Amino acid sequence: MKLSQKLSILADAAKYDASCASSGTTKRDSRRGGIGSTTGAGICHSYTPDGRCVSLLKILLTNVCVYDCLYCINRASSGVQRARFTPEEVVQLTLDFYRRNYIEGLFLSSGIIRNADYTMEQVVRVARTLRVAHGFKGYIHLKTIPEASPELIAEAGRWADRISINVELPTQADLEKLAPEKNLGRIEKSMSVIKARIDQSKAERRESPKAPGFAPAGQSTQMIIGATPAKDSAILERASKLYREQKLRRVYYSAFSPIPDASSDLPLIAPPLVREHRLYQADWLLRFYVFEVGELTTQAEPNLPLGIDPKLAWALRHRERFPVNLNKAPRELLLRVPGLGVRNVDRMLRIRRWHALRLADLTVLRVPLKKMMPFIVVADHSPHLLEKDATMRAFTPPARQLDLFATAPASVESGEF
Ligand code: SF4
Repeated sequence: MKLSQKLSILADAAKYDASCASSGTTKRDSRRGGIGSTTGAGICHSYTPDGRCVSLLKILLTNVCVYDCLYCINRASSGVQRARFTPEEVVQLTLDFYRRNYIEGLFLSSGIIRNADYTMEQVVRVARTLRVAHGFKGYIHLKTIPEASPELIAEAGRWADRISINVELPTQADLEKLAPEKNLGRIEKSMSVIKARIDQSKAERRESPKAPGFAPAGQSTQMIIGATPAKDSAILERASKLYREQKLRRVYYSAFSPIPDASSDLPLIAPPLVREHRLYQADWLLRFYVFEVGELTTQAEPNLPLGIDPKLAWALRHRERFPVNLNKAPRELLLRVPGLGVRNVDRMLRIRRWHALRLADLTVLRVPLKKMMPFIVVADHSPHLLEKDATMRAFTPPARQLDLFATAPASVESGEF
């Protein structure tokens, strides 16, 4: 098989992995005319530890896999066309793309060939050859296999900027049903080993900057949404636990895509993409807005509402906490005002040292004033909160707007909500 054919198969197979920031961008395919889309060649974007956005060659080493995860197009029982790169081919492709300035790094994942250690050895060989034999200084993200030996995972972290292990589904019961070869305990144990190595490397580098690094961009994971009846509360609980205990940099949420010849244990349709979007928003609230999972979902409503963002939903459930006086409230409470993002909260705290905030100040800050008005008090504004149903109506976007959400990329990294 020609290299270009392998690239086409293995770049396409890698697109289902969302733990690389722009994996949802398949809408503008230049093969149908036009220029500028690089997704057909497996190029995606990710963020380095210093916040730069870099383009990565995103491919699988192979889509051959001995595991049979039911939600996966590459599972052993799938009828897809198979291909396999040699490590040397991946090295060559990476260097060729890099020299032509198409990419700044590599995202490499793989199906399980023979067993976990054999596969990991091949993946690590790519990274080692790039770093040692070619002095490659670009970004490398390696997907690791939890069952691989700790020595191989340690070597992966030595060469890679970021390593990730996909947790895939939020509960052990879900894994047993759809991915029986995988085990949540083993996955978390491997994540703990990686976390300990990252911590150790940071401590050593504080002593001596010349000490070898270990995955300086940290570790991440991916969860598939909608392949099982798991509620958003379970998904967010799992994510929150991983952030807390494993210090993950990111949890990515990937809406399940129905696959050909699928098992009857899988749903026939994909969940609405807006659900993925709401989970990213809730994830953001957990990490930067000091929310707890139990505040974003409740026993009565274990799923996030699709029609409004989770912070607004929380505010509508807790109307007794509003209106918030923007001139007096502490930072934690300001962060809970719908429409106010972290950056604007910090700007407002600086402004109010000099004078009382007025509506004109909020206009200059470009906050979504219409959304915020019922929830805030400033020097020249004090609202009477609307009656609950009317407030819900006022904030529920019409169906047409929901469609727009559904086609938007999942990332909410710049969003204020
Ligand atoms: S191990 Fe990975 S590639 Fe193999 S079937 Fe499971 S999800 Fe797919």
